[in-house]
Amino acid sequence: MSASDTSPTLERRGLLLVLSSPSGAGKTTITRRLVELEGGGVEISISHTTRPKRPDEMDGRDYHFVDQAAFARLRERGEFLESAEVFGHWYGTTRDPVERARGAGRDVVFDIDWQGSQQLAEAVRGDLVRVFILPPSLQALEQRLNRRAQDSPAVVAERMSRAADEMSHHGEYDYVVVNTALETAVDDVRAILRAERLRRQRLKGLDGFVSRLTAGSRPARG
Ligand code: 5GP
Repeated sequence: MSASDTSPTLERRGLLLVLSSPSGAGKTTITRRLVELEGGGVEISISHTTRPKRPDEMDGRDYHFVDQAAFARLRERGEFLESAEVFGHWYGTTRDPVERARGAGRDVVFDIDWQGSQQLAEAVRGDLVRVFILPPSLQALEQRLNRRAQDSPAVVAERMSRAADEMSHHGEYDYVVVNTALETAVDDVRAILRAERLRRQRLKGLDGFVSRLTAGSRPARG
């Protein structure tokens, strides 16, 4: 008997973890921290956007920054798994990197809005886990948007005015995490991920595994 026969593990299908929140509630930071702590098992989906790049952002790391024409071409070719207009700019998730990650058994985490989350729910159903991040208060949200200091006051004001609309979609999510303290919120999201990975429906070859277990435990006949 080989070592792998004595310690069999169950394979599972990769899951898609969506994090949504009003802008400034901390989901981008939570997403990055999650991937850092989880190592190679989790991959961030890097969206395409027509929004201008912020000073501390990097093309290919934070987003693929493209112009309207390039975005429209990708959409016409059906390359987006989901896409939506947010704050007057287009954002979208391309299909290929997500399929590749899942094919390799990795989980994919998405920092997308409620519109994208609805579209993904239709596209992948059972393998989608949706988490909504809430700020502890409206004041905390405004402070975070101002502290970010990368957007103009007009942009901050627009994001604040959209926050109530975003938050009204919390009911479409499986879990809610209030981001009062970053590390606690990250822990909460990791706990969700850990439990969701154990869902019976995601485990491949479970029946065969249990059959072998039960066969081994049956008393010998004769
Ligand atoms: P920001 O411009 O602050 O990076 O993002 C603005 C909003 O767009 C955030 O709520 C973010 O989650 C959302 N967003 C980012 N990428 C995507 C995407 O690919 N699809 C959708 N639907 N929303 C996205």
